[in-house]
Amino acid sequence: MPETNPQSRTGLAFGGDYNPEQWPEAVWSEDVRLMREAGVTMVSVGIFSWALLEPAPGVYEFGWLDRVLDLLHENGIRVDLGTPTVAPPAWFYREHPEALPVTADGTRHAFGSRGAICHSNTHYRAAAASITTRLATRYADHPALALWHVHNEYGVPVSACYCESCAAHFRRWLADAHGTVEALNEAWGTAFWGQHYTGFDQVDPPRATPTVGNPAQALDYRRFADATMRENFVAERDILHRLAPGVPVTTNFMTALSQCDSVDYWAWGREVDLVTNDHYLMTDGRRTHVNLAMAADLTRSVAGGAPWLLLEHSTSGVNWQPRNPAKAPGQMARNSLSHVARGSEGALFFQWRQSRRGAEKFHSSMLPHAGTDSRVWREVVELGSTIGALAPVAGTRTVADVAVLWDWHSWWAQNLQWRPSEDHDARERADTFYEALYDRHLTVDFAHPEGDLSAYPLVVVPALYLMTEAAADNLRRYVESGGTLLVSYFSGIVDEHDAVHEGP
Ligand SMILES: [Zn+2]
Repeated sequence: MPETNPQSRTGLAFGGDYNPEQWPEAVWSEDVRLMREAGVTMVSVGIFSWALLEPAPGVYEFGWLDRVLDLLHENGIRVDLGTPTVAPPAWFYREHPEALPVTADGTRHAFGSRGAICHSNTHYRAAAASITTRLATRYADHPALALWHVHNEYGVPVSACYCESCAAHFRRWLADAHGTVEALNEAWGTAFWGQHYTGFDQVDPPRATPTVGNPAQALDYRRFADATMRENFVAERDILHRLAPGVPVTTNFMTALSQCDSVDYWAWGREVDLVTNDHYLMTDGRRTHVNLAMAADLTRSVAGGAPWLLLEHSTSGVNWQPRNPAKAPGQMARNSLSHVARGSEGALFFQWRQSRRGAEKFHSSMLPHAGTDSRVWREVVELGSTIGALAPVAGTRTVADVAVLWDWHSWWAQNLQWRPSEDHDARERADTFYEALYDRHLTVDFAHPEGDLSAYPLVVVPALYLMTEAAADNLRRYVESGGTLLVSYFSGIVDEHDAVHEGP
């Protein structure tokens, strides 16, 4: 049995999501044999396993997961263990149908996909805490455990719920944020179109309205929805910290701006022990390798420059875009190593063995339907060897030449309705500036507008529509200290409540 330190990750990690529950147990031994052949060092397990771990309320079946973790440990493979709280079982929704999220037009989603969760629902919160407690108690000391993987891709596919529980939760959040209803009226500009409130109980989520709604209300709702998901992450993280001290806790981000626009990763980066990211190439005509580099630089930046980990990408095509081209020979390794070069402590994929059934059976994997006599498998084995040989780069840091300012709140505000032009998109400016810097071989950090900029000789401000007074002061001090600031059009237009700044 190999010697492993359960609570450290040495070298670079290589592997992927492992879903053994999709396969007969007889397949598992072949899985780990091939994992060893490919140089796999870590797999993510149990992300969608709640229904099998708790088949009825309060009835637990951990035996199969015990055997999976033991088998992996016996083969020297460490485990990134999921809390399965992104996929409550069918029985849970039969008991608590109000835990299914509601869209802005009042449609309640149904069970049968994934991520159908109202994050304000108290029954969901209690059930998530319960299964997390059970897992942490059972596996805290398991020698295979290297990392906790809470939930999955918060903000995707549901970024906000508009149900009555969320409405009540939103009112409490507004009272904390604004203090008085008079302050809310002022911040939201409710004098316009007669929207004045005389009590928080009159305020609703920005549900479907006859024409455009109050933009400050919509902006606050995005903040509220993000904060509510983060509350639930922190609740699970704190359980894991208490019951399994020393084991780092993460949740997989999707920092690529085309893949998740509902999460303020600056705030989330402060809450995780290790920043991890999922990245998938978008085949929408842009130069995908530039988008990849941008996502990796943004991920490193939300990690505060510390090493991070690519927890998911694809060996070849995905299956959820209109067209899903296969990767060309060598493209997978180039992409994986691009993430490593920008600070990732390894490269993991979705998923280990390609599914035969379910929604993602045409998504590529490390072990494809075609088996080991395939180009994808040969390239996976080669990449595993390469990643293994790169162990000495673990822990190194990237030094950037330039900072590009980025703020999710500004992006949210700029993309609200009834702006001067729908072509004025903050992401378009960020993409364009990034690409120009990339083509000049400059390494880019992203920075929050109120962050420390003193290390950078050049700071670029793509359309930063929403700019707080604190951010403006920060930029003023940066320039007064000798920094060079490049500011795009449509910057510094509104404050944090989408109110246009007063003129001089
Ligand atoms: Zn809700």
